[in-house]
Amino acid sequence: MSREQAAALDRQDPLAGFRERYYLPLHNGRECAYFLGNSLGLQPKKAAEYVEEELATWRTHAIGGHFIGPRPWKDYAVNFIPPLAALVGAEEDEVVCMNALTVNLHLMMVSFYRPTPQRYKILMERPAFPSDRYAIVSQLQHHGLDPAKALIEVGPPEGEYLLRREDLVAAMREAGDALALVLLPGVQYLSGEVLDIEGLTAEAHAVGAIAGWDLAHAAGNIPLRLHDWNVDFAAWCSYKYLNGGPGATAGAFVHRRHGHDPSVPRFAGWWGQDKPTRFLMEPDFKPVPGAEGWHISNSPVLSTCTLRASLQDFMDAGFDRLREKSVALTGYLERRLEETVADRIEIVTPRDPARRGCQLSMRLRGSADSGRVVFDRLGELGMVCDWREPDIIRAAPAPLYNTFSEVEQLVEALDAATREDLA
Ligand SMILES: *Cc1c(COP(=O)(O)O)cnc(C)c1O
Repeated sequence: MSREQAAALDRQDPLAGFRERYYLPLHNGRECAYFLGNSLGLQPKKAAEYVEEELATWRTHAIGGHFIGPRPWKDYAVNFIPPLAALVGAEEDEVVCMNALTVNLHLMMVSFYRPTPQRYKILMERPAFPSDRYAIVSQLQHHGLDPAKALIEVGPPEGEYLLRREDLVAAMREAGDALALVLLPGVQYLSGEVLDIEGLTAEAHAVGAIAGWDLAHAAGNIPLRLHDWNVDFAAWCSYKYLNGGPGATAGAFVHRRHGHDPSVPRFAGWWGQDKPTRFLMEPDFKPVPGAEGWHISNSPVLSTCTLRASLQDFMDAGFDRLREKSVALTGYLERRLEETVADRIEIVTPRDPARRGCQLSMRLRGSADSGRVVFDRLGELGMVCDWREPDIIRAAPAPLYNTFSEVEQLVEALDAATREDLA
């Protein structure tokens, strides 16, 4: 019955055709049910063609590739700005496609974390994705500050998984004019919780702090309006929901009010040099107005071109329609978990669709050891989810390529895996 219901939803899905544009990984010769688009998105079938195009240009024209063809390498990153700006809700001069996520967080902190004896604290969440904490702590140390004094970490209440908005706001107000920077995730990676980017940005500004956002789990997942929300800066990677492939070139956002201010200090390189003078090889740096003024080196074309395919799919499908399907897919997973395994599995992610994206994080009622056993059984059944210590199983149905039938398979697998003895 439920299988039929899922199959009917798949038949009615106007975006069902996009699945064929992606390769599905195999398990024992059969296609897996892949729920880890939040960690590494699937490979678009077009990606190989786009890599081969650039290899052919290199083969045939060598240095000429910088200047010829529909996407000359000298302006390569520019091709990715319009779709990325659309996905994060930015003006085109607020977005740049460069480097990798943690590198971009560092570059943004170089510009926007400039501690003074009075204003020097950074507020972040606990437990954050480790790379973000390493980056923040190393920035503090770079400025000669002691993280024990300068780092504020706000976590969920003991034994809970979700951050409380009022706790974050209270910590900001308590730090007051000592608070220099608030750096938070748009979507918390472990719980799948969406934070109130607009409201928390306003709260940070109210005490005179800068608001920066890590959108690793938000870009391509939830609706974003960074410009209107007045965010100061943001950074994201391209290999999660954006399907750019491992280590694909990342993106960053700098609000116009900073981007057009050449006096904002930054680490500069020739790709951020104002375009009319970039190749005049002059000694003085004059930044491109906007986020491109943070671009340091020429683009890694081979690890950027893979992004073309999926960004095109996002534009073809339309983000609003993808989000609509995402809410339905994740809602279906939630409802079927409730109907089938509610006595054994607890959903940790917020239940309000507006406060989550694709991902549901679950934990087994009872001991964490059993959770690990269940997770291993899911793998044997061809379900690709992931395990995060101490006790979380994450599954993220992605609207570009996942189906209701796969979600149904996941529920059946969870049911089977939790019914047997959990020795
Ligand atoms: C995935 C992820 C990263 C990864 O950083 P890279 O620099 O791309 O290796 C960092 N922070 C968060 C919150 C993430 O989810």
